[in-house]
Parts: sequence; C-alpha cells; structure tokens
Amino acid sequence: AKLDGRNTYSFFTPEMRAQSVRALQLENALRRALEREQFTLHYQPQICIATGQITGVEALLRWQHPELGAISPAEFIPIAEDCGQILPIGEWVLREALRQLQAWRKMGLMLETMAVNLSAVQFRQPQFPQLVTRILQESGLPAHALELELTEGVAMDDPRAAIATMDELHSHGVLLSIDDFGTGYSSLSQLKRFPVYKLKIDQSFVRDLDDDANDRAIVSAIIRMAQALGMQTIAEGVETSGQLAFLREQGCTEAQGYYYGRPMPATQLQALLAGATGS
Ligand code: C2E
Ligand code: CA
Ligand code: CA
Ligand code: CA
Repeated sequence: AKLDGRNTYSFFTPEMRAQSVRALQLENALRRALEREQFTLHYQPQICIATGQITGVEALLRWQHPELGAISPAEFIPIAEDCGQILPIGEWVLREALRQLQAWRKMGLMLETMAVNLSAVQFRQPQFPQLVTRILQESGLPAHALELELTEGVAMDDPRAAIATMDELHSHGVLLSIDDFGTGYSSLSQLKRFPVYKLKIDQSFVRDLDDDANDRAIVSAIIRMAQALGMQTIAEGVETSGQLAFLREQGCTEAQGYYYGRPMPATQLQALLAGATGS
C-alpha cells in the first residue's frame, strides 16, 4: 500500500486494519445478500411462566455467506446500520416473519405473537409506521400479532420523536416491548410515557441469577417496577431451572432461552408447536 503523503496508515494498527478490511468485505457482501437469498430467520420460543405454554416466538436473523460462512447478527447488523442496508433487510425481516406466522396459523398452529427486532435506523424513518401497517395488511394478520422489540437507545436518542412514533404504532394495535432492559439508561419518568406493554430483562442480569445476589436484586426490582407501571416482563437468556424458579417466584411473566429452546429454523419450531398442541 502506498502512503498518500498524509501518513494515513500510521494511525492504524495492523489489527485495526484487519477489522476495517473485514467490515468493508462484509459491507460489500451485504449489498448482495438479499437478492442472493442468503438470509433466513430462526425462531426462539417465548414461554408463559404460569402455564408453560409457548405464547410467541422471536425472529432472529441469520446470514449464511457461501465463502465467509455464517456471520453473527451482532457483527453484521451494526455494519448494515452504517451503510443503510438495514432498511431493506429490516423490511424483509418484518415481511418474512409475518408471512411465516400467518402460514403457521393456517396450519392450525396457534401462536399469539411474532416478536421482531428493530434497529434505531428503521424506527427513525418518518414512514416507518405506514410501512408496518402495509406489511401487516399484506400478511392478513391483526396488528396485535406483531410485537416490535426496541432497545432503550432507540427510545432515548430523541424521546419526543420516539414517543410520537410509538404512539402511532400503538394506536394501530402493534405491541411494543423494550429489549435489553436495564443495560441502557432510560429514566423512569420517560419509561412511564412509553406505550410499551413489556420489558425484556437483559440476559446479562439473568446469566448469574443462581449465584449473584446483586443480579437477583436487580431482576426483582425490574419486575416490581414493571408491575407498578402495569407492564409485563420477559427474561431472556434463561438456561437453568434455578433461574426459572427465581423468575417464577418474583412474578416474571415470560421466559425465553436455551432452557426451553435455542433459536431454530421454521420447520423445527413447527414440529415443536405441533407436538405441543398434540396435532
Ligand atoms: P437480542 O435481541 O438481545 O437477542 C438475544 C440473543 O441471545 C440472540 O442472539 C439469541 O440467539 C441469544 N440467546 C437466546 N437465548 C439464549 C440463552 O439462553 N443463552 C445465551 N447465551 N444466548 C441466548 P443472536 O441471534 O446472535 O442475535 C444477536 C443480536 O442481533 C440480537 O440480540 C439483536 O440485537 C440482533 N438481531 C438479531 N436479529 C435481528 C434482526 O432481525 N434485526 C435487528 N435489527 N437486529 C437483530
Ligand atoms: Ca408474546
Ligand atoms: Ca431481541
Ligand atoms: Ca439481549
């Protein structure tokens, strides 16, 4: 590589350079991934703790590239956000997740909700609520079959605008939940103004519940606060019966995690649902 006289490269360590090369490579590959049908959705069950029933699933995006292999959403979503590709990708996710839910319902497999992750970039589009309404209409599903998972960050950058968008989605009947709750810094005064029906307790608080008294105190406080605000709670990353027992005792509404099932392809979830309903 030639230096251009400004000595640009000297600011990069070889490690940083490798990272930016990888990011560029992914960015280029991302631009073609949709048309080449490299994305799929996996679905992870969400369970009502009181009844043990699967009430819904969360759609989680998977990207399989022929040369680069499977790439984690934790790696490619931020890149897709930076280069704008998250908009068409996010739209595909919404459409595909709702199409799948409707297909299951037509097979007689009942699931109350399909939860879809939302990027702040999507949420900030002025036309976003209309887009959601249009995709819902296409799917033939009622709005309350869709649950949008927003992180605290999405809501907090510009609380006024965020609340207006949330209110619009809520007025159509779409369900809203706050993802990774407890890791951001939403103030309680803002939180009570969000038309959100559920808080999703971040897995970093759930992981060590069995032996960390501080995490137990935090999770217990989140559940109590949600109850006081009339909101439901779902714990993510539940892996053990001990974690589940604590969550049940504290009155957490739902649980999601490897204890019940990993994110899985549609056909596998379908078999699980068919088994659960005994059909
Ligand atoms: P998230 O929304 O917090 O999703 C939970 C992550 O925890 C998922 O990782 C899931 O596979 C994993 N997980 C679930 N149960 C357990 C468990 O019991 N133990 C452990 N250790 N992990 C568990 P995944 O699928 O790799 O997704 C990572 C993140 O990528 C998601 O975090 C979400 O922020 C983002 N993401 C995934 N799909 C989409 C999408 O369609 N759109 C957007 N904007 N973001 C997405
Ligand atoms: Ca649900
Ligand atoms: Ca999520
Ligand atoms: Ca999380």
